[in-house]
Amino acid sequence: MTTYGRFYIDGSWVPPTSDHTLDVVDSITEQVMYSVPAGMATDVDAAVSAARGALPGWSASPVEIRADYLRKIADGIAKRTEAIAAAIARETGMSVTAARMIQVGLPIHNLGTAAAVGGSYAFESRRGTTVIRREPIGVVGCITPWNYPLHQAVAKIAYATVAGCTVVLKPSEVAPSAAFVLAEVADEVGLPAGVFNMVTGVGAVAGEALVGHPDVDMVSFTGSTAAGKQITRVAAGTVKRVTLELGGKSANILLDDLDDDAFAAAVSGGVQGSYLNSGQTCAAQTRLLVPRARLGLAEQVAAATVAQLKVGDPFDEDTQLGPLASASQRDRVQDYINSGIADGATLVAGGPGAPTGIDKGFYVRPTVFSDVQPGMSIAQEEIFGPVLSIMPHDGDDHAVEIANAVAYGLAGGVWATDTDRAAAVARRLQAGQVLVNGGSYDPEAPFGGYKQSGNGREFGPFGLEEFLEVKSILLPAG
Ligand code: NAD
Repeated sequence: MTTYGRFYIDGSWVPPTSDHTLDVVDSITEQVMYSVPAGMATDVDAAVSAARGALPGWSASPVEIRADYLRKIADGIAKRTEAIAAAIARETGMSVTAARMIQVGLPIHNLGTAAAVGGSYAFESRRGTTVIRREPIGVVGCITPWNYPLHQAVAKIAYATVAGCTVVLKPSEVAPSAAFVLAEVADEVGLPAGVFNMVTGVGAVAGEALVGHPDVDMVSFTGSTAAGKQITRVAAGTVKRVTLELGGKSANILLDDLDDDAFAAAVSGGVQGSYLNSGQTCAAQTRLLVPRARLGLAEQVAAATVAQLKVGDPFDEDTQLGPLASASQRDRVQDYINSGIADGATLVAGGPGAPTGIDKGFYVRPTVFSDVQPGMSIAQEEIFGPVLSIMPHDGDDHAVEIANAVAYGLAGGVWATDTDRAAAVARRLQAGQVLVNGGSYDPEAPFGGYKQSGNGREFGPFGLEEFLEVKSILLPAG
């Protein structure tokens, strides 16, 4: 049974220095589930000091030993799959069926990948008389959001620690349970004290204390673009490296060579994909760009797809859409649905209010707008809920122009009968990861954003290198 009252610092469960706490609310019942301590700068100081103390020993340890710890942590998480999936389902609203695979299975897989990538990485190479070394950057502050809480923490901690860095994790106050489990598992597998530390708290206090800390060498952040900008400002005071995985408004482009069946399948898959985790997904493809002549067919298929979706209790095994994570998230999504209507977009499915028959939980109706114009808020801003905007395009060039005309650039999709043509369009998108005809899964593919979707990449060798400094040692000739 996980206890939530303490921080994990220097290999021990440590009481907080203040008695302020933060309530964590069940998205299904709207009741408080448990409270976590609201960390202060003093708590962050202790965690950073532990990470700093552990750094010399950890960074000098053989990479295979570091990789082995990751594999053991993966096993420890796997043993707790049901409990983690259930807690995250309550915190975020994701269906427990999906949570087992994505919220727990994916991080387990990524721990193994990070172990393999780190274990086979050439940390030192030669260029003539020059030795090029890649050394761990040092103490890393990891700040994570609530939508995929374990996955996002693992993306940072696995790659940072296998690189030889030590870390302090500040998880989201909305969904902190996974961070406690991660600490529990790190403790159980005997990870050396101070390598992984965890402090809960709000962003403006614990988060900024970590970001501004002179003994933190790097901040790896995933969250909103607004918080990413503030973190960049605070980090500037100590010129530390900052990597940012921020929001998105990704486009899913359907080209005009698809036959009707392939087009309908891509629309239906596009609607369902954009609703993953009730749309609380940074890389969700929330703009569906279709040839103008097929706007009507896209609307019909989208409406039929939404009508088939099962919205309800995440603990019913066949539920596809649960509630949103919080009341504020629900209200924000409702405001966007109202703004789409006020701006004159065509409402194809859903709309304001809760789904019929549901009177508790932070639910919204899965919603599709059509004929959305590029200037509308619902075409430009990240909604972070199950709201899809269908937009007409007049050919490949026009589709690329619409897709790129937003502040974000995280992900995207292109569908066509001619894969080469789709790949040519993908090359023109300002986005960090584009799936062509659905793509195929690659756990080592770099993930990250162009423009205001962030800086830096996670996963695979690119993700590892974010946590490394480069040193040249110039030897004398001969
Ligand atoms: P958020 O920015 O509100 O919070 C994220 C984390 O940052 C939390 O731990 C929070 O406490 C902390 N934080 C907030 N302000 C801070 C500050 N001034 N200094 C330090 N820390 C601060 O985001 P959220 O609502 O938890 O998550 C949703 C957002 O995350 C969406 O915009 C989504 O697109 C983005 N996201 C991006 C990715 C990606 O990989 N690009 C992945 C998932 C989520």
